[in-house]
Amino acid sequence: MANLYTLLTDRFSGSPDAWAVETEDGRRFSYADLDRSCARYARWLSTLGLAPGERVAVQVEKSVEVLFFYLACLRAGLVYLPLNTAYRQAELEYFLEDAEPALVVVDPAAAPPLRPIADRRGVKHFHTLAQDGTGTLPDAARGQESSFDTVARAADDLAVILYTSGTTGRPKGAMLTHGSLVANALALLEAWGWRSDDVLLHALPLYHIHGLFVACHCALLGGSHMILLPRFEPKSVIERLPRATVFMGVPTYYTRLLADPALDATRCRNMRLFVCGSAPLLPQTFDEFRARTGHTILERYGMTETGMNTSNPLGGPRVPGTVGRPLPGVEIRIVDESGKPVPEGDVGQLLVRGPNVFKGYWRRPEKTDEDFTPDGYFRTGDLARIEEHGHVAIVGRSKDLIISGGLNVYPKEVESWLDRLDGVLESAVIGVPHPDFGEAVTAVVVRKPGSEATEAGLIAALKGSIAGFKVPKSIHFVDELPRNTMGKVQKNLLRERYGSGRP
Ligand code: ATP
Ligand code: MG
Repeated sequence: MANLYTLLTDRFSGSPDAWAVETEDGRRFSYADLDRSCARYARWLSTLGLAPGERVAVQVEKSVEVLFFYLACLRAGLVYLPLNTAYRQAELEYFLEDAEPALVVVDPAAAPPLRPIADRRGVKHFHTLAQDGTGTLPDAARGQESSFDTVARAADDLAVILYTSGTTGRPKGAMLTHGSLVANALALLEAWGWRSDDVLLHALPLYHIHGLFVACHCALLGGSHMILLPRFEPKSVIERLPRATVFMGVPTYYTRLLADPALDATRCRNMRLFVCGSAPLLPQTFDEFRARTGHTILERYGMTETGMNTSNPLGGPRVPGTVGRPLPGVEIRIVDESGKPVPEGDVGQLLVRGPNVFKGYWRRPEKTDEDFTPDGYFRTGDLARIEEHGHVAIVGRSKDLIISGGLNVYPKEVESWLDRLDGVLESAVIGVPHPDFGEAVTAVVVRKPGSEATEAGLIAALKGSIAGFKVPKSIHFVDELPRNTMGKVQKNLLRERYGSGRP
């Protein structure tokens, strides 16, 4: 049967005493412990009388307990719905209204203001779980028996509703099935050569595809050991690197690790794989990391709706600025506005098809129809180009494409030129409304400490390298770029801030 948990049981049944998870303070849980904890939660869930397919919304801090609870929901045939801990009351109300969960689990500190909202939205069961593993949820499961027959699910049945990060608009609920999660996990196990003696240093949040699926599914289905850190802290990561073999992060994790002089090759001596994704990795970070640690970061590309689509290779060259080739089972196509494939090397919208792709947007059938081609490809909304050796380069999102004087300007191209200039730490290029050009190319730049770069100086330097229509009409300097919790630059905020002319 197709329940993801059944696949997991098959994988660890040969070595139930192997360590599955370890916490920052050194508590350890074997695969048998994990199975028993999940069973208690699943049994308790089954006493609630929820029908398969009902939703369980969870907004709590990262802990081993919440990982076990996620697996228990899969096991009980319910649909897990993780929520970013940064979301506040008004945002939560939107998710509760949209997803209509039957059970909501929140941090005890957040319970008093959220309870009335949950009541108003008709939530039947309301529980708490704190980061230290206490709360009404673990209390309720404590007395339950520690065995449970995993509920049969078909490949096409929903396992999770995961909301997109909301970088380009209101988050959309992506319906992920047991089949799509399993397909993607197996493709990654193969592509990244996952082994039972791997030790994953897990610093990502558990409410997003990267930390919950890419990281946990690989480690657990690989029968590996996971060190679950409560949050990303460079010191804590660097301290534990010598015991680890795999690390996964968003680009800002890598820049923050590099900012700590304690990161060096000796600490990375047992590492075999550093994975990066969720946002573009700057080639400078890629180079600096290699020079400091001797390791080449493996960049991959995916999204909530599809899981991982492409990856740089485990063996063979990893090309900076590219996200590698399609994973096993994934097909890609790059098309122009009319939907026709572009000539190799040209930029177009990236479409993907494969068993990893989601079933559709929750309660948004029109949006789902709009985003799939008649032959089953999903329109990612990302612009890409195929480079040498079939490597895909993501050049930005179609929503961020700037059309200035009728000409396409790809922000990433201008950003890469800017980032190479003296005194520039990083940059974001956006289009703002302009009476003559339609949109004017505008740059927002973070200077390096001590840099005296000026608007006129940077503009003059760019004029020597790129066509005039791509050169920013104005440059704004900021201390840092606005980023969401996954390290993605929030260009919508920059457009709002700089869109009405010079502030
Ligand atoms: P929303 O869809 O709500 O606007 P989002 O697209 O940021 O938010 P996610 O599904 O978390 O939500 O992110 C997927 C997007 O992240 C991809 O479509 C792509 O734009 C970007 N992305 C992921 N990995 C990479 C990468 N390695 N390089 C460049 N972009 C990446
Ligand atoms: Mg998206």
